[in-house]
This record gives sequence, C-alpha cells and structure tokens, in this order.
Amino acid sequence: MAERMLKFVGTSQAMPDKRPAAERRRDFDEIYSNYAREKAAEQAARCSQCGVPFCQIHCPLQNNIPDWLKLTAEGRLEEAYELSAATNNFPEICGRICPQDRLCEGNCVIEKGFDAVTIGSVEKFITDTAWNQGWVKPIRPRRERTESVGIIGAGPAGLAAAEQLRRKGYQVAIYDRYDRVGGLLIYGIPNFKLEKDIVQRREQLLRDSQVVFHLNCEVGRDVSMEELRRRHGAVLIATGVYKARDIAAPGVGLPGIAAALDYLTASNRSGLGDSVPGIESGALHAEGKNVVVVGGGDTAMDCVRTAVRQGAKSVKCLYRRDRANMPGSQREVKHAEEEGVEFVWLSAPQAFLGKDHVSHVRTVRIHLGMPDASGRQAPQEIPNSHANIEADLVLKALGFDPEDLPEALATPDLGVTRWGTLDIDWRSMMTSLDGVFAAGDIVRGASLVVWAVRDGRDAAERIHSYLTTKALNAQRIAAE
Ligand code: FAD
Ligand code: SF4
Ligand code: SF4
Repeated sequence: MAERMLKFVGTSQAMPDKRPAAERRRDFDEIYSNYAREKAAEQAARCSQCGVPFCQIHCPLQNNIPDWLKLTAEGRLEEAYELSAATNNFPEICGRICPQDRLCEGNCVIEKGFDAVTIGSVEKFITDTAWNQGWVKPIRPRRERTESVGIIGAGPAGLAAAEQLRRKGYQVAIYDRYDRVGGLLIYGIPNFKLEKDIVQRREQLLRDSQVVFHLNCEVGRDVSMEELRRRHGAVLIATGVYKARDIAAPGVGLPGIAAALDYLTASNRSGLGDSVPGIESGALHAEGKNVVVVGGGDTAMDCVRTAVRQGAKSVKCLYRRDRANMPGSQREVKHAEEEGVEFVWLSAPQAFLGKDHVSHVRTVRIHLGMPDASGRQAPQEIPNSHANIEADLVLKALGFDPEDLPEALATPDLGVTRWGTLDIDWRSMMTSLDGVFAAGDIVRGASLVVWAVRDGRDAAERIHSYLTTKALNAQRIAAE
C-alpha cells in the first residue's frame, strides 16, 4: 500500500481544471471539468490512509473515504463505485456541491501544510465514471413487499429515502407540488454548480426502479394527509423549508426588490426551457442592471453568480459580518470574486430608496461587538456611516424558515418545535402522528444536501423497522 499511497509530500494538490472566469461568466455550465483517469488516481494516492480518518468522521454520511481513494489509486474504479454508493445515494451530487472545506476536506489531516486530498472531486469522478460505464443500474429488489410508503417531497431527503425503501422491496410513491423532481437540486441550486441532467438521470433511475411520482400534487391541497395515511403503511414528510426571511426596512416593498429563491427558480426554469413571466418581463433578470444581493450564505452566492451570468452591469454582495464569519462556503466566495462580484463586508441595508422602483440601497457600516449567547460577535451599527449604493435589482437572501406545516397539511396534531420545524423523536424519526416520519430541512431547518441524504436514509431504516414490527404484531394477533 505504502508504495502507491502517501504521495502527498511529492504530489501537490490539484483540482480538476477550472474554466477561466472570463469564459464561465458567459454561460451556466459547470465550472470544473472532470479528472482524467490518471489524474484521479494520482490525487487519490495523496491520501495517507489514516488509522482514524477524520475526513470520514466529518462526512455526515461517514463515507468510507480512505478505502475508495485507495481503490481509485489502484485503478479499481468499479469497486470504488460500489463502496462509495453503499453509503451515499448521490455521490456525484455531493462531490459537486458539498461544502467540502467545512466537512471532509477541511478535516483531512494533510490539510495542515500539504493541502487536503481532493475528496469531493474524486467522489464525483468515481460516480460520473460509473454512469458512463453503465455500472449504475435500476433497483431490482430481491423480494417485493406489499406494503407501500408515501413520501411528500421529491428533494434529496425524499429521493434518498425512496431509493433505500425500494431496495428493501417496498412500493414507493412520491408526491411533489412541483412539476419536476429534485426539490432545491432542480429549482434552487444553479446549473453552474450542478447541471440539471445530473439530477434528471437520478430521477430516471428511480422511475426505472418502479418508484411512482405524483407531480403537481400539493399535499394539503390536491390530496389530504388523511388520504395519504389511508393509502400507505407509512408516510414520510420531506417538504423542505421555503418561507423566505424578510428585511424590516423602509421601502422594502418597492418594485425591483425580490426574494432570492424566486429569482433563482426563474433562472433555473428558464434554463430548463420553461417560459417564465419574470424573465420575459425583465423583472427577475439582471441584464444591464446594478444588482445588490443582501446576505452571506449559499443562496446569496448563487444569486450574485447568476446575476453575473445574466449580464448585470455591476454585482455587489452586502453582508453585515466579515469574510471570516460568513456562513457561505469560502470556495464559493472565491469563485464569485474571480467572476467580478464585489463584496461589501460589514454593511447592512437601512432603507431602500426610489420613487416607483428601487434606485438605491441606503447602507450602514457595522462593527462586530462582543460575542452573544450563540458565541457569534453581535453586529452593531456605526453611527453616521451611511452610504447610498446604486441598485436596479435587489435580491433578499437572508435564509429560510419553515412554513406553518400543521396548517398547510391540515393536520393540527402534527407537533412542531419552537422554530417551526417538525418535532420528531430522533430515535424513531417519527412525528407526533403514528406512522408519519420526517426528514431533511423540515426537521433540521435550512441545511445541506448531504444531511438531507443522511436523514432520508435514516428515515428509511426507521420506517422499515416500524412496518416490520407492525406486520409481526398483526400476524401474532391473527394467530391468537
Ligand atoms: P427540498 O430540496 O427543499 O425538497 C422539498 C420538496 O418538497 C420540494 O420539491 C417541494 O416542492 C416539496 N413540497 C413542499 N411542500 C409540499 C407539499 N405540501 N406537497 C407536496 N410537495 C411539497 N446545500 C448543499 O449541500 N450545497 C449547496 O451548494 C447548496 N446550495 C443551495 C442553494 C440554494 C439557493 C438553496 C436554497 C439551498 C442550497 N443548499 C445547498 C441546501 C439544500 O438545497 C437543502 O438543504 C436540501 O435541498 C434539503 O433537502 P430536502 O429534501 O429536505 O428539501
Ligand atoms: Fe465529503 Fe460530502 Fe462526499 Fe461526505 S458526501 S465525502 S462530506 S463531499
Ligand atoms: Fe486520507 Fe485525509 Fe482522510 Fe487521512 S484524513 S484518510 S489523508 S483523506
């Protein structure tokens, strides 16, 4: 092993080729190409095969990273794929969009001094290769079960649960209010991070595995929760969080100020070939405009980079803390800066100015004070530090809260936490309703795709235990 691995001293870290910023500003294609086979093997061989792999500990799926790196270094790609797919339903998606700098790669032991192993890029390479080679096959369960499970939400949590349940032979139906499968993978995250055909081939795989999709079907409106509980042995709620946080500042209702997700969804729909009124009227398009995005998370980063690609005149990102304290991935900030985005750190909007349409954002400078109860330094306004920034389009990207789900689903008995997320028993992943489980953002609050996958997999296991116990009890009662 030592011969092939442990190459981090002599071999430098190399990401796959990144397209030049001037080129990628002009289109919505992904910015990284794939590794060539030899390059993937060379980069995988940098791994020192730690006895206690911190990369694996800090991956929410506890992926068996050192082993699939070793198999890649040895050119045994089909085995690497099998191993990687055993713990992750969407390795090629996580490889593309996990914030690796905060998870696996940020905890790689050779990070200190030698730059981390490029785990995400190798993970993506392995599964993209598997797709190209035809190793990714529809599920054919060893035995079919009669029990069915209804899943509300076709985002990563719902899809991961569906795949795991199908593997066990359950009949699975997914209900989604959207017309396409994928949740935020399809309508939130832009193409330049995750091309849509990557998501759509996963959808096709699930369809080929006999998962049934009911699209344009909003639970609580088109079908009731009661009806779903009658139809299925168990129900999983994986509806995500969509209520955009707003800014309490004068002028926030002016035309030209939009919610980030409306803007991103319009752009994604347009890229998928839909006719989108907000794009056609120009209201949700950045071409020729001075764009100001308020916020510092992943959604804000996606907005600024989308605006650049739409041909904005200028793009500024306003964030009330500094670079070190922003929630978004540092890698994404770097990409945005390369593409021409200007970050206005330690700055917050105080008012939106304009007569019939926004024309300026009035900002105030911020000083970071003493840490508050959460340990983060509290932002404090600096008196008399105002500035007016020109703006024709303002995008509010301040995060998301859960909508009132008991009301939306007309199930007042569904328990929620004080944050409005679903209250589950973490051991059983069951909500306050018998046989109704929950997973993903609707339980955690706005989080990450990799956590949604983890929750979906865990929920599938708990649903399986629930249904098998129920079947055994029924048999016992029948025998008595
Ligand atoms: P979702 O993906 O939100 O899916 C929920 C689904 O439920 C949707 O399809 C919705 O239509 C459906 N639904 C809701 N209510 C109903 C109902 N009543 N009836 C029927 N269907 C319903 N994470 C990362 O790891 N990396 C990133 O780079 C990243 N970028 C992001 C960028 C943006 C702009 C956003 C908004 C989020 C980003 N995230 C990222 C977070 C990530 O997308 C989410 O954490 C993840 O998608 C949550 O998965 P989920 O399955 O819980 O919910
Ligand atoms: Fe890293 Fe995400 Fe892959 Fe885990 S799933 S190994 S955190 S890229
Ligand atoms: Fe390899 Fe880094 Fe993981 Fe250690 S922490 S096993 S060097 S990838």
